[in-house]
Amino acid sequence: MKDRVAWLQGPSAHCEVTSANVQTPWRLVLLGAPGVGKGTQADLLNQRLGACHLSTGDVFRAAGSRSECEQSPAIKEALGYMRRGALVPDSTVWEMVRERIACLNCGGGFILDGFPRTLGQAESLKQLLDTEGIMLSAVLSYELAASAIVTRLGGRRTCEKCKAVYHLTERPPKVEGCCDRCDGKLFQREDDRPDSIKVRLETYERSTAPLIEFYKKLGLLVQIEASGPPDEIFDRTVVEMESRRIKVHAQKLWNAGENRR
Ligand code: AMP
Repeated sequence: MKDRVAWLQGPSAHCEVTSANVQTPWRLVLLGAPGVGKGTQADLLNQRLGACHLSTGDVFRAAGSRSECEQSPAIKEALGYMRRGALVPDSTVWEMVRERIACLNCGGGFILDGFPRTLGQAESLKQLLDTEGIMLSAVLSYELAASAIVTRLGGRRTCEKCKAVYHLTERPPKVEGCCDRCDGKLFQREDDRPDSIKVRLETYERSTAPLIEFYKKLGLLVQIEASGPPDEIFDRTVVEMESRRIKVHAQKLWNAGENRR
């Protein structure tokens, strides 16, 4: 989790990920309704690929755990939206992402989890990446029925120190209430309570689901069935990513051949 420090603490923090320990950088966006397991998959991908796991939700939560006087008015406002399960305004989210542009430029790649979440954010991200000459490798879209999502969110517990994610029945910790990795205390996120879950799922359908079409049109979308235990979903993810890499490679060879003709 050391490599998440730069993203969580802001531009001055030192990042542990370097291009030297990542052979082929992946630059990924993870899409999917809240509770579909994006955070867990991002974590597993981070361990496998070495790319930074960048979660806008974690950044807001980290800012929220600072003392009141350290919180800017924009962060205080953002935390209000979060508690209700609503989206933080695009302008606040974008300011936070722009502040961390070095993470997007990192030669080790990145895994964006929870961003973009609106068409406006997706368009701003595209513009920024185009300007910086950075290409996304793929957009992984995790898909699961709404009833299964509600069960997952209700049982989710998160480590307050390292942010590892557990589930009371599907992925319980070895010791109740305690993180397997760092012994941190597990807690239930305020927005994982029933009222907020409802608002978050409605918000996802209205604001984030249209991104599936957006990335499909850009030829970046990879759809992944998100049922079953995390390891199974991860195996599916790796298979889909490999097949995407092969397709992209074949396309490049094809284009090179066409250009030579
Ligand atoms: P997450 O941990 O990704 O489920 O995010 C938790 C909450 O943080 C969301 O319900 C929003 O209130 C807020 N949030 C995180 N990322 C974004 C984003 N890209 N746009 C707007 N709000 C966000």
